[in-house]
Amino acid sequence: MQDDVWGPLFIFGVAILIVILFSSFKGLNLGFRLWGLPPLGKKNRETLKKYCRFYNELPANERANFEKRIQYFIKKKTFIPRSIPQVTPEMKILIGATAIQLTYGYPNVYLTHFKRILIYPDNYYSTINKVYHQGEVNPLNKIIVISWNNFVRGMINNDDGVNLGLHEMAHALRLENIIRNNEFNFIDKKVLDHWEYLAGQEILKLRNGQESIFRGYGATSAEEFFAVAIENFFERPDQFKSYDTTLYHTLAQLLKQ
Ligand SMILES: [Zn+2]
Repeated sequence: MQDDVWGPLFIFGVAILIVILFSSFKGLNLGFRLWGLPPLGKKNRETLKKYCRFYNELPANERANFEKRIQYFIKKKTFIPRSIPQVTPEMKILIGATAIQLTYGYPNVYLTHFKRILIYPDNYYSTINKVYHQGEVNPLNKIIVISWNNFVRGMINNDDGVNLGLHEMAHALRLENIIRNNEFNFIDKKVLDHWEYLAGQEILKLRNGQESIFRGYGATSAEEFFAVAIENFFERPDQFKSYDTTLYHTLAQLLKQ
């Protein structure tokens, strides 16, 4: 073989190797994503310690990974202030932490479809449905909308089963699972079917006015029940477990947590 063939051949080989690494090995792929992200910083870590129960309850050796995943999430999203002067680092960290808390069992899921996160100061008037909202997830516009006051209230009162951030992220998670992209169809179908069956029974209970630990809003639809159940899963795990062990463990399986 002539000398001048080796150069292009080498470049070709390296290119193939890069393609393999980035497309085939998800673990490595993840490693590449998180590799090289700057440290979270003392102030941001203090924010997490102050507001994020999940972070405080994580084993010490998993916290660095959690922090990296938050940073990657923040890097991939565009945060847009609405009726507030700017989006603060604290807002980004806590919204990111909420997303990563929910997707913790899925290290490759970053709710990719939802590219933009809009932040309002408080309840906002939706020109689409002509009502006031605390938050919403809009797959057509690829946005997650959060009202900051309600979001913070949910994080501070972390054991009442009401958490706006987790609620909206739960909607985003279910939608992400059915939107065809690189994060499509990650939830185990069998577990999801089992969940839907059990959730349907619980929704009936709520609609019939029977006693339940879930708030009545969960009876609105399967999507709303899922979001309400997620709030309880993280904020009141013991009550949830003793109320209905099977339902709790099915949700734990679904989240891989
Ligand atoms: Zn909802």
